[in-house]
Parts: sequence; structure tokens; C-alpha cells
Amino acid sequence: MHIGIPRECLSGEARVAATPETVKKYLANKHTVVVEQGAGIAAHYPDEAYAEAGAQLGDSTQALAADIVLKVRTPDAQERQHIRRGAVLVGMLDPFDAAGIAALAETGVTAFALEAAPRITRAQSLDVLSSQANLAGYKAVLLAANQYGRLIPMMMTAAGTLKAARVVVLGAGVAGLQAIATAKRLGAVVEASDVRPAAKEQIESLGAKFIDVPFETDEEREIAQGIGGYARPMPASWMARQALLVAERCRQADIVISTALIPGRPAPVLISAETVKGMKPGSVIVDLAVERGGNCPLSEKDKVVEKHGVTLIGYSNLPAMVATDASALYARNVLDFMKLITNADGQLAIQQDDEIITACLMCADGKVLRSA
Ligand code: NAD
Repeated sequence: MHIGIPRECLSGEARVAATPETVKKYLANKHTVVVEQGAGIAAHYPDEAYAEAGAQLGDSTQALAADIVLKVRTPDAQERQHIRRGAVLVGMLDPFDAAGIAALAETGVTAFALEAAPRITRAQSLDVLSSQANLAGYKAVLLAANQYGRLIPMMMTAAGTLKAARVVVLGAGVAGLQAIATAKRLGAVVEASDVRPAAKEQIESLGAKFIDVPFETDEEREIAQGIGGYARPMPASWMARQALLVAERCRQADIVISTALIPGRPAPVLISAETVKGMKPGSVIVDLAVERGGNCPLSEKDKVVEKHGVTLIGYSNLPAMVATDASALYARNVLDFMKLITNADGQLAIQQDDEIITACLMCADGKVLRSA
């Protein structure tokens, strides 16, 4: 098949859906590839590297008019005009955005949203949420460390001893666990909270302390198990007890990294304005949930703001800040997904009964096939 790699046009999106490495693999799998000129520039993959790998270079119309279009972000209205009816689109298409999926369906494209892949062992190599969240968790700690006016590790100097920074991580999924590991590597004292009981062991195995919010009813305990590894909204009683504990831990903290999310819902509010007021001057909050409304109502999307002496970092696309590695991992995720929908002869072979395919398929033949 003929594969197109357009340049991402969303503001601030520096990633690209294929690298020269994956282009070579597509060619070896009997596909042809057209890369829009400059598609990899922001991620430091120059046009020449794609050409050397065997890709043709083209314009955006040529890349979008391919049989299979590989994207990072969902196409906007302008891009949708150039995608052919019956073509295949693979990308992070925001499966919970019903209007966006309906607009895609209207183009007649067969669209696969990789974020919708089930969290099963076989899907690990194409799990874009994990590959990107992992980098976001790492970058969040570095951003906080850079903003923080003190050091992270304990340091004994001739002029006196500096105490290690205290880091609180809220939400210990993929991003949160990487944030814990990164903060530990820098020498911080780390504690973390999650609603899922399974997270306790993972937090402790990284050398951090688990902030325990005990369950008081069987209902709380049952909801906390989540579904498919994902959290569900907790009852107000548990959230209130968690808020008290979080407020207490945040008052002691120097850095808070919040990553708590519930699929398809607004992010849970875990750090109230009152909690921020009680934090130490100079402390830093990185709100990774800002795209979904934020874990803190004071954080602002794509801005760094100071409130009550606390710096709140609200960048919504941290993987794009490490675009070279983020693209390399994302491109491999896409390559692995492509193996599920094409055969050894480079032809489309969509296994309709494969649970990964069923979960990711958003629309085909003008119809929405899955809306969250
Ligand atoms: P996510 O981004 O949806 O959410 C981040 C974290 O926020 C989750 O750990 C969630 O439990 C937590 N959270 C939600 N509400 C909270 C609250 N009120 N307080 C504190 N924390 C709260 O999650 P994710 O990073 O995508 O990971 C989801 C799950 O998938 C995890 O269980 C992870 O281990 C699992 N996973 C499995 C595989 C696999 O088996 N292939 C791969 C990756 C991730």
C-alpha cells in the first residue's frame, strides 16, 4: 500500500508518525511511503534522512491522499478534505471526542484510534498511551526541577547541608510511576497516591511511600478496583478523605506532579485552591491532567502561572518537548499496529475479529463504529 506521513499541523505538535527507521521497515514490508517535506524537522528527523531511507518527499496533499495515512494527532477540517474515501487513517484520534469521530466518519475513512487499544499483553508494543505518558512523567519532573529554586538531592557541603526535596505524585499510572522513578533518581524523597489498590505495590517497589486513603465501605473498595486497569470516579466520601490527606502532604511538599485521570471524564480535582494556598512559597506543581481540566483548578493550559507563591506548570503536550524520542517510540507503536492490518505482501488485511482492531476502529464506510 502507499503510506502517507503528513506534517502535524496542530500548534506545538513537534512529533511525527514515522521515522526514517520505520520508513525502512515499511519499504521492507512492500509498501511505498511519501513523507511531507519538513514532517520530521521539529523532531530532528530531516527530509534527507527520510529520502535516504527510501521515502519519496511530497507536499501535504500527496501525503494525505495516500492509501494509509499515519498521523500523530487527529486531522483538522483542512486535512480531512484531502483524505480519500476508503483510505485508512491511524493516529491518536481522541476516541472520546464524539464530534471529532463523527467528522472523521463523514470523510468515509477507515480510522483507527490507537489510544483505544486494550491494556493487554499483546497490545503492549503498540500502546501509545504508555509510550507517551512514560516520557511525559519523566519530563514533568525535569520541568519542575528546573523551575524549583532549590536542589532536589540532599547535599552536604562545607557551607552546610541542603535537605532533599519532597515530591508528591498524584496518580501512579504510567506517567506517575515514571515521575516517581525520575524524582527518586534525582534524589528526592517521594510519596504517591492512587485510587487503585494495585498501585500501592508499584509505588513502594520504586522506593516511594504510598499515601494510604483507607476504604470505609465495600462499595468504595469495589469502585477503586477500576475497569480494565483504569480508575473509575470514586464516591464523594473517599474523595473528601483523600483531599484532606493530599492537602496535608502538599503542605510538606516542594514539588507536586499530578497525573490523575479517569478515561472519558474530566480529571478529578485533587489539589484545591485552598491546598495551593497552604503550600510552601517556591514550591512547584506540574499538572499533567490539564488537558482534561486539570487536577488543580488553578493550573492553566499551556501556561506557567504563579498563584499564592506556588508555580503551576500546565503544559499539555510534554511528549512533544522530547519529540525525537517520543516520535521514535510512537512510530514503532504505529509500525506494530500496521502489522495487524496489513499482510506480508504489503496489502490491507484487517482482522475484523481481533480485539485490538475492534477496540481501535472508530469509523468506516461513513459510519461511526465506536463512540465512547
Ligand atoms: P490514566 O492515565 O488513565 O490515569 C493515571 C492514574 O490516575 C491511574 O493510575 C489512575 O488510577 C489514577 N487516578 C484516577 N483517579 C485518581 C484519584 N482520585 N486519586 C489518585 N489517583 C487517581 O492511567 P494509565 O497511566 O493509562 O494506566 C492505566 C492502567 O493501565 C494502569 O493500571 C496501568 O498499570 C495499566 N497498564 C497496563 C498495560 C498492559 O498491561 N499492557 C500497559 C500500560 C498500562
